[in-house]
Formats: sequence, C-alpha cells, structure tokens
Amino acid sequence: MSERKPFTVKELTEEARHFVFDSRLSLARWINVCKSLLQQADVYYYEHDFEQAYVLYSRFTLIVLEYLPDHKEMEKSHITRQNKAKVKLLKIDTMSALDKMEEIKPIIEQRVAAWDYEQKERARLIQYEREAQINHYQKQYREAQRRQSQGITDREYEKLLFDIQKLQAPGSSSTKSSSSAVSTSPSNSITYPSTQYEHAVPIKGTMETLIPSKPPPLPPLPLSEPIKPLTPANTLVEESAPSSSPSSTDKSKAVLHRIRATTEGGEPLRSVFLPTSLRPDFLRVAQTNTDSKLETCGMLCGKLSLNAFFITHLVIPHQESTPDTCATIHEEILFDYLDTNDLILLGWIHTHPTQSCFMSSVDLHTQSSYQLMLKESIAIVCAPTQTPSWDIYRLTDPNGTSIIRRCPKSSFHPHPEPNIYKSTMRHGHVVMGKDLPYKLVDLRSIKPSDD
Ligand SMILES: [Zn+2]
Ligand SMILES: [Zn+2]
Repeated sequence: MSERKPFTVKELTEEARHFVFDSRLSLARWINVCKSLLQQADVYYYEHDFEQAYVLYSRFTLIVLEYLPDHKEMEKSHITRQNKAKVKLLKIDTMSALDKMEEIKPIIEQRVAAWDYEQKERARLIQYEREAQINHYQKQYREAQRRQSQGITDREYEKLLFDIQKLQAPGSSSTKSSSSAVSTSPSNSITYPSTQYEHAVPIKGTMETLIPSKPPPLPPLPLSEPIKPLTPANTLVEESAPSSSPSSTDKSKAVLHRIRATTEGGEPLRSVFLPTSLRPDFLRVAQTNTDSKLETCGMLCGKLSLNAFFITHLVIPHQESTPDTCATIHEEILFDYLDTNDLILLGWIHTHPTQSCFMSSVDLHTQSSYQLMLKESIAIVCAPTQTPSWDIYRLTDPNGTSIIRRCPKSSFHPHPEPNIYKSTMRHGHVVMGKDLPYKLVDLRSIKPSDD
C-alpha cells in the first residue's frame, strides 16, 4: 500500500491542465512537445507509473485537441504541408492515448478505493483500541474507588494488622529506638507515622498514593506511519538508484531515480544526467566559430527512463550567429530529427566567445521557452576565454519563469528583478556522468527543403 494518498482521476486531470500554452512558440515546436509528451507518457505507462502516465496522456490530448487548433500557424494560409500532416498524425495518436487513459483509469480508481478502505479500517482499529483502553481504565478506576470507599480490603487489613503487631512486639527495633519518628514496615513500602500506631488505621493518606485518582493519559495512538500531506513531491521521491543509461536499465529490477532537487516553489525536478565529455566535444565543434568570435549553439536531447532524463544526443542545428547571439533556423530539420529518433529536448548549450559566463536577456527568453515545455530544461553556457569558463543555468520558478514569460521585449534589454536565474550545477538537478554514452549529430550538413 502506498505511503501517501494516491491521486484521484480528477486531481490528475487538473494536474494535466497545469501548463501554459504560449502560441508565440512555433507550431513545429509545439508538435515536438506533443510528441515528447506522448513518448514520456508511454515510458511511464510501461514502467507502471500510471499517475504520471495519466497526466501526460491527458495533457497530450488536451494540447492536440484543444490548443493546437487555435495556434496562429494552423490557419490555412500559414500552415506548411509538413506540419499539417504531423498534426493529423498527432490527432490519430490521441485515439490511442485516450484508450490508454481508459485502461489506466480503473487502476487509479482501484488504488484510491483501496487506500480509502485501508484508512477507514485503520481508523476503525484505532477507535476500537481506544475504546478498549478507556474501558480498561474505567474498570480499574471503579475498582479503586470501591476499595477506597471500603478503606481497605480484609486481606490487606489482616496483613497490615500483622505488620503493626510485629512492629509493636517487645524487642522490635522501632520501640527500642526512641529517636525514630518514622518507621518503615519491612514487608511493604507503605509508610506509617509512628504516632498513629496505637490507632492502627493510619490508612487514608498512604493508600491514596497507590490508587490512581483518575485514569492516566492514554498512550500515543498506534499510528506507526504518519499520513503524509498530498504534495507532488511525495509522488516522485523514491529510493536512490545507481545512475545508468536507459540502455543498461533492467526494467524488471527497476528502481526509480531519486529526486535530488526541487524548484524554488518546491516542485520536484527530475535528475538530468549529462555526459562529462559532451561539453569539451561541443567546444571542439564550436572552435571555428569561437575563433571568429561568433556564438555556437547545440541542443541537448535525450530520453526519459525511470523518472530521470538522460542526455543521449548533442544535436547541432542550423543556426545564425553573431558575437552575442545565436538563433536556430530551419527548425523543421531539428524537429524531424528529434521525432524520428524519439528524442526529448532537454535544454541547450551555447558559447560566449567574447563575453563572460552568464545568461543574457536574450538567453533568458530562450531558456523560458525551454522551461515552459519541460521544467527540468537546462542551459549550459561556455565562456572559453573567461573564468569561470562554463556553468549550467535555469530560471528560478517562481519568479524567474513568470517574469520572463510576461516580458514582452525582445533583443537585449535589462530585467531589473533580482534572482531571475541561477546556477543549477551543484543543486543535484544535473548529474554529471563520466562514462555515459552519447551521440554528437551535426544537422548543418542537411540541406533545408523549400517547403
Ligand atoms: Zn548567451
Ligand atoms: Zn525580457
């Protein structure tokens, strides 16, 4: 049984709507996002993480059926033949996504019902134990009261009398010792003021110490595990697992990768595994541009496996560079490659040939579009001539993401708000993997089509 309350279908459906559709991003980009969502949903489905799968299938169908039709590039005069065909295929994919949702739904409902049943049973047991305890103490209390009203039981009285007589017998220590004001009975711990020996019933004050005047407080309830609040963080945190590439993962022994970092708002950030050799390889590819003081950019692409992302491909797209900017062109070639190879866009890497290592305002807007699609997306900046020569960044969430999303400006412009972005190098979000395999693909050799 799960430690936390499983999410209901209604809650998962609401979570699926928790995203921003920004139609300023190209249709090709959104088509790619839809494919990524479907791909991630399938991974979670086959890994039996049905809650995540349900959210992603649901978000996928929502975007394809409700949001894409309103995208400005969907107008007949704007849409390319290629994109039109892709959207058509996505619509067909929604059929199987909806089928999977229907298949998952009863599993989710059954888990919720089982959890509810267990909680009720647990509450019933607690109530039963509490009542039994109260009955027990009440019985003890009544017994004590009865004894108190009688003063003392016959047997106790006999024993007490015997003790007293023994104490009063000639030669006993207490009668010999005139200085002793208080004597202790040798056979029990009840104490008697010596002046009352002759009356033989010095009972009340001493007996009271033996009888509880009221039931003692109940011990803590036998709840071995506290019920955790319903938070997204609980959904994902699992046992740690050794880092491994998707290809080496044995699904039958699969353990989800541990969440090591969260956003500033406390949302879990799944780990992104980055091969250490990727950055020096990228710098070699960029060297010609760097020598000419021109920027170079590359796309960090990869796969989802066991709740973590693995950068498996560094893809160099067609691009236009200046000394302080770098923009992707012929995006369709990039997205075709990603679609064909089932790759998820996990972030980007670019050089600052002359500037220091930081995120320019243009970089922040670019990164915003990445994080809009996937909150784990990262930006690696390389400043080969500076110290530090590189870093990994993300927008803070909140407030960096919303500030940049609301900012209508383009080109270089100041953002006066503090802490819009931060280094994510040492926060556990990005995990450097020394021997992780990856592929470098330079798409610039592909000639763009006219369509
Ligand atoms: Zn930059
Ligand atoms: Zn701005």
